[in-house]
Amino acid sequence: MNIRPHHFLCVQNYAGHGYDKNFTEHMDGIVSALSHETDIVIQEGCDDICAGCPNNIDGVCASAEKVDRMDGEVLEALGLGYGNKKKWNEIRQSAIDRIFTTRLFDKICHDCQWYGICEHITER
Ligand code: SF4
Ligand code: SF4
Repeated sequence: MNIRPHHFLCVQNYAGHGYDKNFTEHMDGIVSALSHETDIVIQEGCDDICAGCPNNIDGVCASAEKVDRMDGEVLEALGLGYGNKKKWNEIRQSAIDRIFTTRLFDKICHDCQWYGICEHITER
């Protein structure tokens, strides 16, 4: 599965909310397909989740500047790079340890429209 870095957080916080019905059905499919052993390729730009998003305009996110910044901060926190291949469980756990537990999450995600929902989910 090809996943862009900030979506490592979104997948873990997903609670059924989305931009439209098509997107939430697509996201439901992604979340149920992910297991600890799923191979992840770290994608630069639009990924398998963006494929179902109405904000994906010809392969570019309508909020590209913001999400590219988030992607960069997640990569830096996890010590990873674009094109790296990892098991989902390794990425998932590293994001918990380095981003959710440390509350670096708040810095990365503060200007996302879903932040008000996700900030409570991340109070692990
Ligand atoms: S606040 Fe936004 S970017 Fe951050 S995890 Fe939630 S949906 Fe994803
Ligand atoms: S296109 Fe943009 S808003 Fe849509 S899922 Fe991808 S990063 Fe998020």
